[in-house]
Amino acid sequence: MHAKIWLSSPHMGEQEFNFVKEAFDTNWIAPLGPHVNNFEHDLEQFTGAKYAAALSSGTAALHLALIMLGVKAGDEVICQSFTFSASANPIVYQGAIPIFVDSEEDTWNMSPDLLEVAIKDRLAKGKKPKAIIPVHLYGMPSKMDAILAIAHQYDIPVIEDAAESLGSTINGKATGTFGAMGVLSFNGNKIITTSGGGALVSDNKEYIDQARFLATQARDAAPHYQHSHIGYNYRMSNICAGIGRGQMQVLKDRVTQRRAVYDNYLEKLQGCQGVSFLSEPLGYKSNRWLTTILIDPVKSGGITRETIRLALEAENIESRPLWKPMHLQPIFQSSPSYKNGVSEDLFNRGICLPSGSNLMESEQDRVISIIKGVFQP
Ligand SMILES: *Cc1c(COP(=O)(O)O)cnc(C)c1O
Repeated sequence: MHAKIWLSSPHMGEQEFNFVKEAFDTNWIAPLGPHVNNFEHDLEQFTGAKYAAALSSGTAALHLALIMLGVKAGDEVICQSFTFSASANPIVYQGAIPIFVDSEEDTWNMSPDLLEVAIKDRLAKGKKPKAIIPVHLYGMPSKMDAILAIAHQYDIPVIEDAAESLGSTINGKATGTFGAMGVLSFNGNKIITTSGGGALVSDNKEYIDQARFLATQARDAAPHYQHSHIGYNYRMSNICAGIGRGQMQVLKDRVTQRRAVYDNYLEKLQGCQGVSFLSEPLGYKSNRWLTTILIDPVKSGGITRETIRLALEAENIESRPLWKPMHLQPIFQSSPSYKNGVSEDLFNRGICLPSGSNLMESEQDRVISIIKGVFQP
């Protein structure tokens, strides 16, 4: 049996270990320290956001963003339905209600048209949504122009879930820097990793100061432990931030490498009838975190995404159906949703292919030849 090929595995550069060693040598083994501060600076430089707070996870970053926007029990928050559950879970941590909005076909992300339908309907039902959470899924930026125009019209703040899209841009501007706040993730499978971690970015200093305050148990300024807020233990460890500093040195290369993986699949799978790729709208640049394909079973002669997934699995290769929309998840059955069938169709017909920046050419060729074999047995 060949060695396992993963969907997306960690890819260390040359300096990560040296930064971690420096943390040991200087005894900064804590959820604060010079690496944390420098990693935040690196993130600000890279994204162009004025401020960044390094946190324990992307989920924690989103949770703090909702808290700072005043989301409380019984409130409603609009969230993209086509996403990973971590986009929606923090809404429920606050006792609030997620309102799911389906996708549009150009980016697979939140449909601006349905967003407006949802806002109007919630207002008619007597509640104004407290926030809007679009997601830049698989690295493809959402239609931020249209989403922001609607958000401004109804005066609702936007939190961008950019957990999968570090390195993606619209007309050169980084995802995560369009809304009031942006959420980043450095989990093990993301384009760069700190083993586990996240960040909140914003141009608003108050949000980031407040995020750091809440993330470190909300201690008031006093020599003793004094608290006038409920705090959280959400800060990033100085060890993890050391890994992050090393990863920031290679992030640009990682984006180039992931995009090359996409280009290779695109070129070599051209002959497979019924297979299609998601191209970038004008001005959009995706980090191509994962390469995704859609299979049209009518054009493919009955081949489905499951045919491909099982053929790859038999050869010890990991692939995965696209995210199952939140409005179809058992846990969110009772949440209101505004649907158009797009995300359900994507889930039924789509699959993520191995896309790691450390995927060797020979490994990509193995994946490609197995898929081709399914189409031309
Ligand atoms: C990974 C991910 C998150 C959560 O980030 P963690 O750092 O794993 O908590 C949130 N949203 C999306 C879309 C993600 O892919």
